[in-house]
Amino acid sequence: MTSGGFDFDLLVIGGGSGGVRAARRTAALGHRVAIAEEYRFGGTCVIRGCVPKKLLVYASQFGEQFEDAAGFGWTVGESSFDWAQLIANKDREIDRLEQIYSRNLESAGAELLKSRAVLESAHEVRLLETDKVVTAERILLAAGGRANPFAGLPGAEHCITSNEAFHLKRLPGSIVILGGGYIAVEFANIFHGLGSDVTLVYRGKKILGGFDDDLRDALQEAMTKKGIRILCEDTIVEVAGKADGRFQAKLKGGAVLDADEVMLAIGRQPNTLDLGCEKAGVELDEKGAVKVDAFSKTTADNIWALGDITNRIQLTPVAIHEAMCFVETVFRDRPTQPDLEDIPTAVFSQPEIGTVGMTEAEASKEFAELEIYRTTFRPMRNTLSGRDERTLMKLVVDAASRRVVGAHILGPDAGEVAQILGVCVKGRLTKDVFDRTMALHPTAAEELVTMYEPSYRVRDGKRVDG
Ligand code: NDP
Repeated sequence: MTSGGFDFDLLVIGGGSGGVRAARRTAALGHRVAIAEEYRFGGTCVIRGCVPKKLLVYASQFGEQFEDAAGFGWTVGESSFDWAQLIANKDREIDRLEQIYSRNLESAGAELLKSRAVLESAHEVRLLETDKVVTAERILLAAGGRANPFAGLPGAEHCITSNEAFHLKRLPGSIVILGGGYIAVEFANIFHGLGSDVTLVYRGKKILGGFDDDLRDALQEAMTKKGIRILCEDTIVEVAGKADGRFQAKLKGGAVLDADEVMLAIGRQPNTLDLGCEKAGVELDEKGAVKVDAFSKTTADNIWALGDITNRIQLTPVAIHEAMCFVETVFRDRPTQPDLEDIPTAVFSQPEIGTVGMTEAEASKEFAELEIYRTTFRPMRNTLSGRDERTLMKLVVDAASRRVVGAHILGPDAGEVAQILGVCVKGRLTKDVFDRTMALHPTAAEELVTMYEPSYRVRDGKRVDG
């Protein structure tokens, strides 16, 4: 028992990126910490999200690389792809990472509770595996989110989500994917690269709402050119199973698509169902997310929440950052609010997107005049390979202060470059600093410091040339 008579100083519900970081840091400070996880330690990111996704992205890029090799003098023999081998190797790597997560928790001194945990009151948590109730002075809700199952769609039970996509028995010959966000776009490229016939169905005008329009246009064009069918301003209204084991997706616009798999990628929902929040005085918002204040505190005095369960920004580094702030605030007496401004992000499409800060559209509402520096070019590698794919780079600059308020890239390694552009935007660097920075030659990123004249300006929300 702790001094307050509780079993633990902190009980964390959810062993994903945010929960694990909070548990480890708090345990390392000498507190009695337990962390409950119903599935696998590591959470969505490690087990069925970012990490396995990136491994699949790598796998899906080899086909183009084999083709490109010819321009560099290589003759690549006949190649073939083995989905089962990829999945087995990926699973082995995920097992390894999961063990590291568990080991790190244990070596920090946290107790691992392998059970679903639900709130019974503000200080009591029931472990469903053993039906035991444990008590904690403070509780942290970090149970993450789950793929929206689109319950209202007739035939939704025939569909897969990203969860199942990582464990399919065989590579689908054809797949229809619903959605136009991160997951739909990334998986469309993965399956296409591995050899599936892919159709993306998206209700909006162009994919990746919220990203800079230039990137959206250029990526949609590049994906279409590769052979991914993108059907916009349409949606799936029914999915039916066929006698041959395949599926039929009926679209609102009247088209009927036959496919081996139909995948839903229409957003993720906070994991608050049956968590017992109402018993503990933890209020939810209209979307079922846990309501929190600027310090991640819920409406219950001793309960905090972070990561996807709060539906702020659904990204792993955000959950980890929120966890660090939580520990500072609650266990180190240094109240720290998560800083969710200027978060760099990547979409691992092919070509890749890397972006940070404001889009041109957002910045044009905020600033009276913008300078837009924009370039497109053929990456050097594509000269000999002959691949007809261009890189796009764009800097959005507030003309008055000269500050670079947004940076957007479509092209190889865009995510890697965006991480460092994140430092520049966060550091409020001006375009003059970019201009003074020596180019590193020959790289693609050197274009970011050699665009001396604006491509165009945006004044009072309207584009003016020169
Ligand atoms: P997103 O929110 O990115 O996209 C959801 C998509 O589904 C949108 O295009 C949305 O359309 C569409 N949609 C929503 N509801 C419906 C509906 N009822 N019918 C048809 N279409 C619908 O969600 P994802 O599932 O792609 O990803 C979840 C989150 O995970 C992301 O927001 C991101 O934060 C994170 N993630 C990050 C990755 C990364 O960092 N690389 C990779 C994968 C996920 P509309 O635009 O019209 O609303």
